[in-house]
Amino acid sequence: MLLQLFDRLNEHYDVQAPWWPAQSAFEMMVGAVLTQNTRWENVQMALNNLRNLALLAPATMLASENETLQMAIRPTGFFKQKSATLHRLCAHLLHTEGENFDRPLAQKRQEWLSIKGIGPETADSILLYGYQQPIFVIDAYTLRIFKRLGRFEPSVRYAQAQAWMMQQLPNEVALFQCFHGLIVEHAKAHCRKQPCCQGCPLQSECAYVD
Ligand code: SF4
Repeated sequence: MLLQLFDRLNEHYDVQAPWWPAQSAFEMMVGAVLTQNTRWENVQMALNNLRNLALLAPATMLASENETLQMAIRPTGFFKQKSATLHRLCAHLLHTEGENFDRPLAQKRQEWLSIKGIGPETADSILLYGYQQPIFVIDAYTLRIFKRLGRFEPSVRYAQAQAWMMQQLPNEVALFQCFHGLIVEHAKAHCRKQPCCQGCPLQSECAYVD
């Protein structure tokens, strides 16, 4: 059932795994923090600033002054909190560098969640796109679309939504990466805040259709 929805989206949009636009795993992780509560266009501006300052590496970013980092990421908003989170992220990466990553996924996830400023969506994005780990990312777009489709209760929680998706899908990193990308594309193209249902590839499945 869920795979059918994936197929419909996949036929409609051109999304290829890994999908997340980044030139390195570190850039991906930085983007995952910066994208909290802002548009991707603002993240791109901040990433360009960081690239121009040669700060897109854990050691150089960690060594950077708070003010420098804050100015660079200012376009994304919440720049003081985000710069502190980025410094903590860098410290974590440098601390665990070279470690055997062969620990249970739940343990690795818990380690990321213990970093202040990193919630479930950010942690799961880092694990799925930065570390190629099989975990499904739930974001506001996923909740919006699957509530409208009648698949999620209005009060669904992150963990419930994630478990529901993962129970129905093969445990494949590329599939999870691609599906999340398709959800984002669909939320931007059709299932916006004000939905544009005409031509929606999920129309026949939708409880909400406008
Ligand atoms: S039919 Fe409309 S509300 Fe339903 S998934 Fe498509 S765009 Fe969203």
